[in-house]
Parts: sequence; C-alpha cells; structure tokens
Amino acid sequence: MNGLASFRDGKTAQQLAAHLRSLRLENVRLMEVCGTHTVSIARAGIRQLMPEGITLTSGPGCPVCVTATADIDRCIGAARLPGVIVATFGDLLRVPGSSSTLRAEMTAGADVRVVYSPLDAVAMARENPDRQVIFLGVGFETTTPTVAGAILQAEAERIRNFSVLSSHKVMPPALTALVDDPQVAVSGLICPGHVSIVIGADAYLPLAERYRIPCVITGFEPVDILQGIVMLARQIEQGEARVEIAYQRAVTRQGNARAREVMAQVFQTVDARWRGLGEIADSGLAINDRYADFDTDRRFAITVEPTREPAGCRCGAVLKGIISPEVCKLFGSACTPERPVGPCMVSSEGACAARYRYQD
Ligand code: SF4
Repeated sequence: MNGLASFRDGKTAQQLAAHLRSLRLENVRLMEVCGTHTVSIARAGIRQLMPEGITLTSGPGCPVCVTATADIDRCIGAARLPGVIVATFGDLLRVPGSSSTLRAEMTAGADVRVVYSPLDAVAMARENPDRQVIFLGVGFETTTPTVAGAILQAEAERIRNFSVLSSHKVMPPALTALVDDPQVAVSGLICPGHVSIVIGADAYLPLAERYRIPCVITGFEPVDILQGIVMLARQIEQGEARVEIAYQRAVTRQGNARAREVMAQVFQTVDARWRGLGEIADSGLAINDRYADFDTDRRFAITVEPTREPAGCRCGAVLKGIISPEVCKLFGSACTPERPVGPCMVSSEGACAARYRYQD
C-alpha cells in the first residue's frame, strides 16, 4: 500500500480523506466500473483510506474480463480458420477459452498478430491482399469509434480482405442491470472516465433518476478518484441521487457526438452476453447490414466449441462486485498473473490482477 504519499497533491488528498472520515455513513458500497480506475485505486491504496462504513468494490469495467467464454471461443475459432491473419490487442492473447487460448493457437501455427490500433489491421490487409485479416473487436464505447473508423477506412480504400469479429459492448445497459440486481446492492457509482468522454454524463441520468443511484464521473489520478468518492459520499449523506462530473477537463454532459455518429453509422445495438452478468438486452454492438461485408460473423462459418467455464474461477461474482478477488479459493495460489485461470487475472486492468499486484 502506497497510501497518501503517492498522491500528486498530498495536501488536497489529506483534506479529502479527512472530509470522508467526518461523514457519518453506514453500509455504503461504491463501485468503480473502469479498469483504469481499478488499477489506480489499487496502486494508490485508496481502499485503505476509506472510513468504516464505506466499501469500494470493482464492477464490470475491464472489457477483456467481461467478454464471455463463448466469445473468446469465437475468437479462437476465427484463428483456426485456414489461411487467415487474426489481429488483436495483446491483452486477449492469454484469456482462457473453453479449451485453448489465442496464444496456444499461435504456438499451434495460427497466424495471430498483436496490433495497437484497428487501423494497423487495415494496413495489414492492405499489405496482404491474398490473405483475409480478421480484427477481434473487444471493448466499450472508448474503443468502438476507432473500430468503426477502421471499417470506414477499409471501405473507402475498397479493401475487401478485412473484417471485424465484434464483441463490442456498451456500458449503460450493464450498469442498469447491475443496480437492478438486489444481490449487488450498490450505493453509488464511480462512473468510467474514458467511456463518459464519448457517451456524456447525461447517459447516466436514468440511473440517478429512476434507480436513485448517485453517479460521479472521475478522472484517473488518485486525487481525482478521491474527489469523486467525496462527491458520492456527500450525495448519499444528503439523500440525493444526481449525476456529477469530477472530470470536467474531459467530460461534458453530451459527450462526443461525432464519435457516437461514427459508431451509429457502422454498428447496431444487439443483445449481448457478459461474463458474470449474463445476457443483457441492447448491451452489445454488431456490424449493421450496410457494412455486412466487413462482418466476420457473416463472411465466415466459425466453428465454436461447447462452452466450458474455467473450473473454480469466480470471475463472474468478482465482476458483479459480489465478492472481492481474494475470496476466490484460487486467488494467489492456483491463479496468479503468471498462470491465470480466469480473465480477471489475465488483464492488467482486471480486479484480480490489480489486487494481486498491489496487495491492496
Ligand atoms: Fe478467476 Fe483467478 Fe480471479 Fe479466481 S482469482 S476469480 S480464478 S481470475
């Protein structure tokens, strides 16, 4: 635990922590739903600064972690197609599917390549005109506009050997499902910074108005997060439920309309399965009919094996915030970042990996 010494502005952080201690709150559970927040909270030791009565818990904020095993198996099935190049962000490589991983498929001879942007995959297709390039689309509203942009770029260049296997998800329906679940019992949400830049703060209004859940969007520095927690605690103490922005340098009420337009041009909302949360209506994005030529699912018959969840892994409960990672019997013994059993230990933004690494 690094504690207050790690804060950029120690004095402000001291004041915020003291203010939190002065509040009289009981049984308050605040959930962060952003992998970057998860890591920042763990690294700075923010959990230890909470007074009695406030608990911080992680939710479904890590896009790799919430990708269901069946969708990982789809990615692995794509890698097994003869002659294709699969382009992916690196954090998917080690996520276990039912019987394999993308990395294991690479070792077995599949052509799986790590890219840093979907446009890298378009370039790969341009440079390999006799190969089919499949980009594995995983991520929230932060990532999806860039994937839509890559499809538009491929169309503009008439690149026909590029497609996207979309497992993209949108955050608000998942948050609604969470706060609607009595098992979860969230008192307030630390809303994601990056996603909110795109969707805007008003996207959370139904959570505040209909479900009476206070929402605060924060930045990523420890002092930003602490500020957001204080704002949530104040709302709860006063019996209010509003959407507040503690990250005004980046987030507006309306968000980035252009990014959403690009997404809407290429994708349509569909029901989607989330690890731990199950099937949630309108929480996924599939490529629409206009861009069907760039949809891997429509262009290729992918064989997907029957789903088998990793034995003993409790990622589903971790992603719902029902248990903290160390409650899982495999945590730190059979499951470590070097030998992960579930995705929450694979991704550096996963709750299990962050807890293991920073021991917070
Ligand atoms: Fe799954 Fe490992 Fe986390 Fe347990 S510690 S929930 S096995 S990722």
